Amino acid sequence: MIYFDNNATTQVSPSVLEAMIPFLTEHYGNPSSAYRLGKVTAEALDHAREQVAALLGCKAKEIVFTSCGTESNNAALASALKTSGHRHIVTSAVEHSAIKNHGEDLELQGYAVTYLPVKEDGTLSVQDVEKALRPDTAIVSLMWANNETGVLFPVEEIGQLCRERGVLFHTDAVQAVGKIPINLSELAVDFLSVSGHKLHAPKGVGVLYTRRGVAYTPFLVGGSQEKNRRGGTENVASIVALGKAAEEALAHIKTEATQVKRLRDRLEKGLLETVSGTMVNGNPILRLPNTTNIAFESVEAEALLILLDYHGICASAGSACTTGSPTPSHVLRGMGFPVERTLGSLRLSLSRFNTEAEIDEVLKVIPKIVERLRRENPKAQELKKSLGF
Ligand code: PLP
Repeated sequence: MIYFDNNATTQVSPSVLEAMIPFLTEHYGNPSSAYRLGKVTAEALDHAREQVAALLGCKAKEIVFTSCGTESNNAALASALKTSGHRHIVTSAVEHSAIKNHGEDLELQGYAVTYLPVKEDGTLSVQDVEKALRPDTAIVSLMWANNETGVLFPVEEIGQLCRERGVLFHTDAVQAVGKIPINLSELAVDFLSVSGHKLHAPKGVGVLYTRRGVAYTPFLVGGSQEKNRRGGTENVASIVALGKAAEEALAHIKTEATQVKRLRDRLEKGLLETVSGTMVNGNPILRLPNTTNIAFESVEAEALLILLDYHGICASAGSACTTGSPTPSHVLRGMGFPVERTLGSLRLSLSRFNTEAEIDEVLKVIPKIVERLRRENPKAQELKKSLGF
């Protein structure tokens, strides 16, 4: 199997699995318990917190473990609304559903949400953020890297702007963490979301970074875990795994910009050169090193995915959360592309576990599949016209 869908989820790294297993077997104590069995797990949580803090360039105390990226995103917005007492949120039109759908839900509850548009290359203007700020803005929440295109938002400048204007700033960094260097000690970011399963830890564990000194109120109200910032007995084994994954990600952060990027570029260049009627969606420079999103003229990406799967190749036609639904990607639509182009777009996302041999194989398979689909697609010529290629 060739796995090119690392923005959907990643394989658990073998050493991450090895690190977590003892916490599913002999070290099963509750970290809140006073006896030794509990102390072992409490210490393991402290160690994981240090490991994650090292990856993010922040203090261990600023790390709150959660159940996933979605929970972290929900928690940041909910806390900002409560602590500020304000009723307006600024976000973008291309956020992951973990922000977008929460925003829509908040609107139903009477809050106001501004969804900033992006340019055709998927980038966002800081001036647009500035213009959207209101006296009652509780928080600005903008993703660091887009899950579908990999396009990066100017988080540094947006954070600075928000700080100058006295508005809280949250970034959904679920796709950025582990792929690009992050140093929160140098950034004006108040809240940042991480998801374990995007960086070779298991699913169902995440982090919310909460800047020291910034008011925060828990989303899950219960016990005093996480220093009263998140109720619920900690998922110790997964947190240990996330700590180990963070340590490995930090050790490999240069590999992303070199090896992973080189493979991605070879794959992308190869497809653009060998398959006619192809275009990259998103800014080719301001993006993650592991992601390419390519539009294929006169091809339905869903059909392409099925044939790729037949060849043992995993990819995606949009974000994993929207796969199976006929709705065109709101990210590509938000970039102004016609429906046909969004439906003909394929996302390939790599990790450090991918190899040159896999790129060779995919470069052999995709052109053949595309040729077959175009030959067999009776609507090909019609589509070609409407795509505006
Ligand atoms: N934010 C982004 C940008 C994502 O890509 C994802 C997952 O695809 C999430 C949030 C949600 O993370 P989780 O699956 O851990 O809830």
